[in-house]
Amino acid sequence: MSTDVVVVGGGPVGLGTAVYAARAGLTTTVLEPRDGDVDKACGEGLMPGGLAALAGLGIEPPGYPLTGITYLAPGVRASAAFRSGPGRGVRRTVLHRALRTAALASGVELRSCAASDITAEADRVVVSCGDGSTLSAGHLIAADGLHSPTRRRLGLDRPADRRPRFGQRRHFRVRPWSDRVEVHWGRSAEAYVTPVAEDLVGVAVLTGERASYDTHLRQFPELVARLDGAEPATDVRGAGPLRQRAAAPVRGRVMLVGDASGYVDALTGEGISLGLAHGRAAVDAIVSGRPESYASAWRAVNRVPFAATGLLLRATEPAWIRKRIVPAAATLPWLFGAALHRLEGAS
Ligand SMILES: Cc1cc2nc3c(=O)[nH]c(=O)nc-3n(C[C@H](O)[C@H](O)[C@H](O)COP(=O)(O)OP(=O)(O)OC[C@H]3O[C@@H](n4cnc5c(N)ncnc54)[C@H](O)[C@@H]3O)c2cc1C
Repeated sequence: MSTDVVVVGGGPVGLGTAVYAARAGLTTTVLEPRDGDVDKACGEGLMPGGLAALAGLGIEPPGYPLTGITYLAPGVRASAAFRSGPGRGVRRTVLHRALRTAALASGVELRSCAASDITAEADRVVVSCGDGSTLSAGHLIAADGLHSPTRRRLGLDRPADRRPRFGQRRHFRVRPWSDRVEVHWGRSAEAYVTPVAEDLVGVAVLTGERASYDTHLRQFPELVARLDGAEPATDVRGAGPLRQRAAAPVRGRVMLVGDASGYVDALTGEGISLGLAHGRAAVDAIVSGRPESYASAWRAVNRVPFAATGLLLRATEPAWIRKRIVPAAATLPWLFGAALHRLEGAS
């Protein structure tokens, strides 16, 4: 079996990338071992740039419109509106279904396969599935997530350069009380509240401390009061360590996109938007006949979000700065708005 492009991983970035490839006229196969509407620990806020990228592919997943971001700490809040259009809270399962439907409609082949071996040759890449079948492709795009087996297999994994952080999320059956993503800043964690439907709100907790979801949530009395009596609608799911690094995003005919290509943190909520921008850049590089040009495109896409997220993480590590982050954003609303604007656009 042979194809122009094989995408390893059928998460949002892999499926989005496959749609870009198919629309560019490349025969495309996605390898993904999980069936059904795939779920994952995620804040589920699509930033305006990511939503626009999906719309450009004709994909309009249903969800809850988002108009901006609010930072909160006890007794103080700072809020900024998106300037480049709305975002949307979308359940991962809903997003997965929309992307899979679009991929199939674009002629993408979806194959149930856990890629187990990759051999790069001069003019093609050969992938083996766990069941012994193989697939030969002109190029391979790895979108196999935070702990990318492809990144490891190619020797592109690099050790993390900061203390590990983890994410956990759960949904609650409650009517959204805001059309902005709320980021509650606690002593050692942040809680992200994203409405994803008329009667469903997701709450993701990010932290470097190991404890249960409920233990972390107790840091946020205002939020706990909001959720009082709301029935949990999903189990707790976790992910991490969030920080992942790759030595390079391309090696020969293999390219890494999305979380597989490296990840800073979920603190600024643009992982899906960034990954879709990687996917488009990888396909452009293949179509141009210069796959190596993906490296500079990848760096250009990441520059602002990686720098901003890294800066915010480092700056808010000392407890005395953490305490002041929301009051500072409230005192300097123009700066908060401008910073948000820089992050809303990856597409
Ligand atoms: C707590 C938390 C909150 C977040 N909040 C947001 C947010 O609000 N907004 C946002 O945009 N982003 C957010 N993110 C980041 C976002 O979830 C990721 O950036 C996004 O899921 C990346 O998509 P992906 O397709 O690259 O990887 P994934 O979604 O991880 O998909 C990878 C896929 O690869 C498959 N795979 C793995 N190994 C193999 C193999 N050997 N063969 C074939 N397939 C394989 C997996 O089964 C999986 O389906 C958050 C992340 C966390 C942890």
